[in-house]
Amino acid sequence: MSQKDVSLKSVLLNTGVLSKKSLQPFESLPDDALWPLLWTHYKLSEETTMKKVVTFIGCSFKPLSDLLIDQAFRRSFPLQTLRECRFIPIYEDKSSLSIAVDNPYRKDVQEYFSNQQKSVSMTLVTSTDLNSFLGEGVAKSTADTFLDRLIMEAVNAKCSDIHIMKQKETLGVKFRIHGELIQRESIIDPSQQDQIMSLIKVQSGMDISISNQPQDGRISFESEGQQVDIRVSSIPTLHGEDFVLRLFNTTGISFDLEVLGFSSNILDRLKSLMKLDSGLMLVTGPTGSGKTTTLYALLNYIKSQKNCHVITLEDPVEYGISGVRQSQVSPKIGYTFANGLRSVLRQDPDIIMVGEIRDQETANLAINAAYTGHFVLSTLHTSDCETSLKRLAGFNVDSYLCAQSIRGILSQKLSLKLCPQCREKTSSPNGFSHSFEGKGCEGCDYLGYQGRTVLSELLVVDKQIRDVDSLSSLSQRLEDMPFFKFREDIKSKVEKGEIAYHSGLEGVM
Ligand SMILES: [Zn+2]
Repeated sequence: MSQKDVSLKSVLLNTGVLSKKSLQPFESLPDDALWPLLWTHYKLSEETTMKKVVTFIGCSFKPLSDLLIDQAFRRSFPLQTLRECRFIPIYEDKSSLSIAVDNPYRKDVQEYFSNQQKSVSMTLVTSTDLNSFLGEGVAKSTADTFLDRLIMEAVNAKCSDIHIMKQKETLGVKFRIHGELIQRESIIDPSQQDQIMSLIKVQSGMDISISNQPQDGRISFESEGQQVDIRVSSIPTLHGEDFVLRLFNTTGISFDLEVLGFSSNILDRLKSLMKLDSGLMLVTGPTGSGKTTTLYALLNYIKSQKNCHVITLEDPVEYGISGVRQSQVSPKIGYTFANGLRSVLRQDPDIIMVGEIRDQETANLAINAAYTGHFVLSTLHTSDCETSLKRLAGFNVDSYLCAQSIRGILSQKLSLKLCPQCREKTSSPNGFSHSFEGKGCEGCDYLGYQGRTVLSELLVVDKQIRDVDSLSSLSQRLEDMPFFKFREDIKSKVEKGEIAYHSGLEGVM
């Protein structure tokens, strides 16, 4: 443990929390047993005392709401272990892991992590916060089994949402399947109802003590070879709370940069951009252009290349990525991208992913972060690289800082991919294949195409260009930069027979 080897008694004396005289009766008591007496015997305030002693102990103090918990990391510990050893897993990277405890002297936590090759850093939280996180008092077994069974049933039924509604006397469960809401079952036993609702909150990381406000959370569910990401939202209602669990079956989805369909010249440039330690990288495109998938794939690539601290701000968090601390912004309650970015910067990240730049404030904060030594990835809702520069200028950003920070803009859209099986049978010797008509085979359900591929353009702002002092001078020098354009990408993919040319592509040719 990274905690300093200082006895609790000397800490209490040095900080003036307790006097030598008042400590005398417990002279021989070990530190782990003395710690809880501070609250039960001495009646000290946990928060005030913890804030006073943290620097001596070698850790920090935080309220539960300030911990950015990596849900995948958290789910790697059984709830039972967390309850027995009393800690909150926060995140880990290649060399260290971070946990929160309410008693820094507890032997069982230290023993639990004693075989770790990584250094363990501790944050102190009050026991109220820790209990709230652990959902103490929630009986396990039956509610746990019920929830697991319900989720598996929903997955097997290809259900998109599970609705759990507290009515006057029952807890009703409905499945949404192909758009239809179907009544599933009702739980009548009141204590079982409470257990199920508490369990959903604990597992999804909601605050169990709050029931009069809407909350959001996530559950990463794994069973019988199925991986399901579940976004949970709660709303207070007349009889209690209602929950909606939206299921994202991630089995088989990979955020692998290699398989998204980028042409090799763009892929190579993207990979070298991901080696940068600072600067701004934008992924742009209209809704449904696969920006999020690309961002996740880029983050995965970065994680595979270097040991770094990655934090994301997303609206919403769509999929969990292991080793990345993902935070969901919630503009409705004032937790905006801009506010989120301010708190994320206090967490000493190397890489920051901001879901979308939508306004001047977020744009300026992102640019500042990129200028001051962070690598920032974000998206813009624009159709190509040139328009993206104009959009940034339109946000009234600091033009000098922006021109100095920007490292690359990737613009993308998706196109249907011609079925490789029937292409083999019907394409002409030079590989040209221009239309879906008359094509089709068993492999593609006689549609002629199979899945989608990405069409992209990439603008790289390399070192030679960085003497520019404004966005407009940057825009004027586009021809001096490595700029792989849509029309080249489309042309080469049509020529290779990967896509068919169609009228929808005219705008970008
Ligand atoms: Zn086919």
